[in-house]
Amino acid sequence: MASLSRALRVAAAHPRQSPTRGMGPCNLSSAAGPTAEKSVPYQRTLKEGQGTSVVAQGPSRPLPSTANVVVIGGGSLGCQTLYHLAKLGMSGAVLLERERLTSGTTWHTAGLLWQLRPSDVEVELLAHTRRVVSRELEEETGLHTGWIQNGGLFIASNRQRLDEYKRLMSLGKAYGVESHVLSPAETKTLYPLMNVDDLYGTLYVPHDGTMDPAGTCTTLARAASARGAQVIENCPVTGIRVWTDDFGVRRVAGVETQHGSIQTPCVVNCAGVWASAVGRMAGVKVPLVAMHHAYVVTERIEGIQNMPNVRDHDASVYLRLQGDALSVGGYEANPIFWEEVSDKFAFGLFDLDWEVFTQHIEGAINRVPVLDKTGIKSTVCGPESFTPDHKPLMGEAPELRGFFLGCGFNSAGMMLGGGCGQELAHWIIHGRPEKDMHGYDIRRFHHSLTDHPRWIRERSHESYAKNYSVVFPHDEPLAGRNMRRDPLHEELLGQGCVFQERHGWERPGWFHPRGPAPVLEYDYYGAYGSRAHEDYAYRRLLADEYTFAFPPHHDTIKKECLACRGAAAVFDMSYFGKFYLVGLDARKAADWLFSADVSRPPGSTVYTCMLNHHGGTESDLTVSRLAPSHQASPLAPAFEGDGYYLAVGGAVAQHNWSHITTVLQDQKSQCQLIDSSEDLGMISIQGPASRAILQEVLDADLSNEAFPFSTHKLLRAAGHLVRAMRLSFVGELGWELHIPKASCVPVYRAVMAAGAKHGLINAGYRAIDSLSIEKGYRHWHADLRPDDSPLEAGLAFTCKLKSPVPFLGREALEQQRAAGLRRRLVCFTMEDKVPMFGLEAIWRNGQVVGHVRRADFGFAIDKTIAYGYIHDPSGGPVSLDFVKSGDYALERMGVTYGAQAHLKSPFDPNNKRVKGIY
Ligand SMILES: Cc1cc2nc3c(=O)[nH]c(=O)nc-3n(C[C@H](O)[C@H](O)[C@H](O)COP(=O)(O)OP(=O)(O)OC[C@H]3O[C@@H](n4cnc5c(N)ncnc54)[C@H](O)[C@@H]3O)c2cc1C
Repeated sequence: MASLSRALRVAAAHPRQSPTRGMGPCNLSSAAGPTAEKSVPYQRTLKEGQGTSVVAQGPSRPLPSTANVVVIGGGSLGCQTLYHLAKLGMSGAVLLERERLTSGTTWHTAGLLWQLRPSDVEVELLAHTRRVVSRELEEETGLHTGWIQNGGLFIASNRQRLDEYKRLMSLGKAYGVESHVLSPAETKTLYPLMNVDDLYGTLYVPHDGTMDPAGTCTTLARAASARGAQVIENCPVTGIRVWTDDFGVRRVAGVETQHGSIQTPCVVNCAGVWASAVGRMAGVKVPLVAMHHAYVVTERIEGIQNMPNVRDHDASVYLRLQGDALSVGGYEANPIFWEEVSDKFAFGLFDLDWEVFTQHIEGAINRVPVLDKTGIKSTVCGPESFTPDHKPLMGEAPELRGFFLGCGFNSAGMMLGGGCGQELAHWIIHGRPEKDMHGYDIRRFHHSLTDHPRWIRERSHESYAKNYSVVFPHDEPLAGRNMRRDPLHEELLGQGCVFQERHGWERPGWFHPRGPAPVLEYDYYGAYGSRAHEDYAYRRLLADEYTFAFPPHHDTIKKECLACRGAAAVFDMSYFGKFYLVGLDARKAADWLFSADVSRPPGSTVYTCMLNHHGGTESDLTVSRLAPSHQASPLAPAFEGDGYYLAVGGAVAQHNWSHITTVLQDQKSQCQLIDSSEDLGMISIQGPASRAILQEVLDADLSNEAFPFSTHKLLRAAGHLVRAMRLSFVGELGWELHIPKASCVPVYRAVMAAGAKHGLINAGYRAIDSLSIEKGYRHWHADLRPDDSPLEAGLAFTCKLKSPVPFLGREALEQQRAAGLRRRLVCFTMEDKVPMFGLEAIWRNGQVVGHVRRADFGFAIDKTIAYGYIHDPSGGPVSLDFVKSGDYALERMGVTYGAQAHLKSPFDPNNKRVKGIY
């Protein structure tokens, strides 16, 4: 029998060459001892899987000729999706599994379910999975899924880690998730076998637990079948049929198998690590990598029974209760990529690479010392899919209508399965999920990245290796950088720009007074034999900010913000998405797409939302009406009919593009959407001095009368043609200059030269974040999301409800208005100078009524500002009187701070500054 400590010694005594990048399935014959003793749970199924392929026996039941939806893959995600489709009333739903249910990754999962994560949507998804496996399935089928509620314990061995847990605890209060911060002594009482000498504290979540993969999937399949869905095993999908409609749109037509085909308009790719291969059958890009992921199962441990599962993030290790033993697993710095994903791999495992796994042993033994003397019963090392940001891939593929993704679950596909299965079912049936799934939606990635091997590989590696790292508010990836650089990149780098990565772009974060900090090639943190960068300024600057206190660069951001409020700042916003919507039907399409009236005379610019059928906000953007033009220029295409220029946040350009395209296709509109994002740069000059500065650069009168707010013009800037727009993202007098690529540097330099005597400085997105929250401007996907209506978000002014013009989402808004708003976005400020970042609980009159979506420090008002939606715990509408009459406090890391609620922005509430009134 091998013990964990022996495994450690063996691996240390026989160091192997570091695995080269791109190694295939690992055969670790050189690591003696432990591997030889390898056995696996589920032996029966494993042996069956090794025998004659069950596929040869043919499908477990005859294939129907048609289906409303075909789910490919019978793992956690496929079964959950099928069950939720059936539960939501979808008839004709069929699941095709190549082998047997769970035979991919699911059968060997550890099955841990933790309820608290640093994301409100994930907390909701996890809660749903827990409800399904712990209660609903049993009520429905009479079968127990195998759910065990033994609780979960997060370990903090430093102050920041405990701060992170306290943040989770506060968020949990908004969702009714019970959790307790325990001292080391209390932890010892709860878990006597634990070493608590080096602990700061722990977070105990009593209702966490463990899912059983076989029990869960069998019960899901049983319940789905009882509702009319069909589960067909031993039936690999070999092809996807696609047709192109009269408008040139590619749509799903059916699936092919060795045993016949099924005609269907909708396919869901739940094929786990095989999802990329299934995507290729349909010409759909699925950006994931397959990696080995492992745990070992120990021999019996006296006294371990009924202990909670443990996550020791700082040691990158988890300890899962398995009867009277433990499973020990974690996340390594050098995970093994599975390059050639075999389609013959059913109920299969890899030999464990002890040299890789050794990283976990010391941490595990330190936490539960009895492991030092405990034998290893078996090792479980299987394939799992990992994605560039460690979030799943879901939603309709931008390349193919009717092709949905439900894959890339990053070792969380059991616990997220129920929540995600339900959202996928809504997406398929209603065209959109119920929750804000943007963080999981395939459209969060720009299309140029989703088949870029270096980007996928580097980012997936870094996300895996950092999975247990503290999630700090201002962290950035080091992998997959410099994919998209705007025309001002080099210029700004030389001026100390510290870049952030969004949608593949490098965008300015802030400006470091002490020289350039370029982002270097990814060094895999020294893993796989690569040489780690030694003197890496950018990485050092990021690390300085690993804190939940005010970051050390707080004063630098303050300087940028106050320069903008007091003189002027220039922001490089070139990463913005810049689209033209033109053509014969463009006006009709614009009227339908945009909540505001954008069909004003050419020269107007309108801030508007785009909504979904539920009245939720899919985007906020500016739309500028163009004068008709028969001649193309770098600043406008030639077009007939009507034309609009759309400027959308660069991090969500693909989402916007896909939303508009889908709506145009559904409306069968005769118009063109043209992407000019890479052809144009954009700088925004904001602040009281902006007019004086730009008056020296632009060949036009910039007075209020000649160039009012919310208008745009084609002008010359230092001799170069630009589109100038009088707009503000920060609540100041200011203009955006949209500039053809080749002219960006000379125009920027001319602006800087003119601004020198006015105190103009460079500023980045950290300043925009602060300035915009101070002014009360919304950020999409933070305080404004697809599950928030503009009425709830205080953006009723963007909705043309007084006009008779129909628009997407109008009916839902009218119903919402008639019924009264059930929640409202409220601005809070605090007298205490305490940093907040979002997820803090909102208390009103002693009850939790919501949580903070977005928070930052406002330097002009010198206060912390937080925005969050509040509801009335009694279920009634949230009137303005309800908001005003409350007594509020915000809870940050378990401590509450008195807060003042505002119905209007506390900074310049009468909007004088954007009008140029100072
Ligand atoms: C060691 C380990 C520990 C883990 N621990 C946890 C944990 O504690 N908690 C947690 O939540 N998650 C955990 N996970 C992750 C979780 O198990 C997975 O995310 C989840 O099981 C993935 O489910 P899936 O349905 O996406 O993929 P799979 O289970 O792989 O299912 C995909 C299915 O598609 C089928 N298929 C493939 N191609 C075709 C085709 N052409 N036609 C028809 N069928 C096809 C396959 O046969 C397979 O059955 C762990 C994973 C590993 C490896």
